[in-house]
Amino acid sequence: MRCVVVEEPKKVRLAERELSPLAPGFARIRVKAAAICATDLEVVDGNIAANYPLTPGHEWAGIVAEVADEAYADWVGKRVTGSNDVSCGVCEACRSGNWRYCPQFEEIGFKRHGAYAEYIDVPAYGLVELPADLPFTHAALAEPLGVALGTWEKLAPQYGKTCTVFGAGSIGLCCLAVAKAMGMRRIVVVDLNPERLEVARELGAHLTVDPAREDLFAVMKKYHPEGTDYIIEATGAESCISAALKLCRKGGYVALAGYGRGKTMSIRMDDIHINNLHVVGAGNNWNQHQKAIRMMAEGAVDMTPLVSETLDLSEFQKGLDDARARPGRFIKALFTFDEVGQ
Ligand SMILES: [Zn+2]
Ligand SMILES: [Zn+2]
Repeated sequence: MRCVVVEEPKKVRLAERELSPLAPGFARIRVKAAAICATDLEVVDGNIAANYPLTPGHEWAGIVAEVADEAYADWVGKRVTGSNDVSCGVCEACRSGNWRYCPQFEEIGFKRHGAYAEYIDVPAYGLVELPADLPFTHAALAEPLGVALGTWEKLAPQYGKTCTVFGAGSIGLCCLAVAKAMGMRRIVVVDLNPERLEVARELGAHLTVDPAREDLFAVMKKYHPEGTDYIIEATGAESCISAALKLCRKGGYVALAGYGRGKTMSIRMDDIHINNLHVVGAGNNWNQHQKAIRMMAEGAVDMTPLVSETLDLSEFQKGLDDARARPGRFIKALFTFDEVGQ
């Protein structure tokens, strides 16, 4: 089958790979859409733990082609997305439901071959069936939408509170979409790209701020005079993390959902300590695909503005370059196979 392979950091090519026998407990998916994630660029660059040579891709949707176990036979032919989490299932972490903390945990697209390929093998127990009318390109984004859902769950939000999202990339925009669906008020999105802020407004942001053009602190003083109830930081940038801690209401909540690339950063501890902030790490989220698909199916979120371009696998370099440069309104590039969006 055709696939994209990162042979070693910074060495990517289109390749042919023999399909290996399907392991017990797994389903083989004919991939119909696979999105390029900013995290995949870290895999390409060698900044994240991965098993090279590796086919990246953890945001996918497709059709079940084959299952290893009779118990899952009904899934064959179904339109699906699903979990990328492979764990032992018997250790204490797994049994308590925290399988991402399993010592044997392996994520598809990082430790195991992912979805930049015609076929992907995933655990059958993590499959989620798609409604007939949900495009594969949208369903493939259940993963980033699931990250947003998991991030909000960690904040245990209440209806009608104020919120601010730093970063109008795919995670920031998914956090915005969930905030909107949950009935948050005075939702603000902060980003340096005016065109992505336009996408944020289309997705329902009440106010957008470009800190290069406006004084963020002055704007926020007017819009959230008491400080913001919930802030999601989805850039991983030191200046944004620092600003988030200062703009949060006393006793409010900040989720750190951006990747800091291993950097040590300087923040003013008293912004947390004196103001009794709840600061949570939101990097690990699981068990969200089903909820994400339900939200899409019921029209609570619309992923259309996030699908910026669709590509053939052979155009992988363009997809990776665009994901890196993020020109204009670009949010997501997706590989599609056969009938686009079917
Ligand atoms: Zn991702
Ligand atoms: Zn385990």
